[in-house]
Amino acid sequence: MSQPRTPVFAANWKMCHGPVETGAFVGRFAARHVRRDDATVVVFPPAISLPAFAAAVSGRPDLEFGVQDVHTEVEGAHTSGISAAMVPATGATWGLAGHSERRREFGDTDDHVGRKLVRLLEAGLRPVLCVGETLEERESGRLETVLDTQIREALRPLDREDRSRLVYAYEPVWAIGTGRTASPDDAAEAHAIVRDRLAQADGCDAEGSVILYGGSVKPANIEALLAASGVDGVLVGGASLDPDSWASICAAGG
Ligand code: PEP
Repeated sequence: MSQPRTPVFAANWKMCHGPVETGAFVGRFAARHVRRDDATVVVFPPAISLPAFAAAVSGRPDLEFGVQDVHTEVEGAHTSGISAAMVPATGATWGLAGHSERRREFGDTDDHVGRKLVRLLEAGLRPVLCVGETLEERESGRLETVLDTQIREALRPLDREDRSRLVYAYEPVWAIGTGRTASPDDAAEAHAIVRDRLAQADGCDAEGSVILYGGSVKPANIEALLAASGVDGVLVGGASLDPDSWASICAAGG
């Protein structure tokens, strides 16, 4: 029997908010955000801001945080790489893999994403696997195929037990940072496809898996998206950079 799915509100700050801004953000957000026992709040700051984030949230264990990306290797001659093995020392407990900006700007393939998931799991971090189609893929009728390939290939190197530890984020590439949001029906359709693929994958707990929606989520559309079938939370970029906007998103659906 699957566990009930706890909603997750996740913020991806991308390359915004250095250590100084991070401290100021947390001070303001923590003053506005009322702890929720029915949901998880997690922020993905830039890696250089992880220690500042940790210091700012000490005493607020309800405010979790994670790393936006890790290297496929554990250590060695990989200038600028971030090893998953080094992340837990910062206090971070989550990690993203497969964000579309990593795929587009840094050439991350499904094979890289799978290896990064392995590293995150080895380090005891909770991975969020991001998947999603481009506009061209959607308009040419390849939504299902794209999601199927991204999920199948990323899960390939994971053993059965590890597969049940993932959180998923459906993020249509055409909705990320564009102001164009998927409709609740679009989100529900894609989330059903993701859940169906998990049901077919060995070891995955499809009904128990948390699947987030990401793509131009803001205070004005959060309630409608959270109400869409199969949407268990959100991954938010731009609208998570302002502490008031992020606090109002994190209060949704309560
Ligand atoms: C993201 O970066 O994952 C994202 C969804 O960005 P935005 O909310 O700005 O579209």
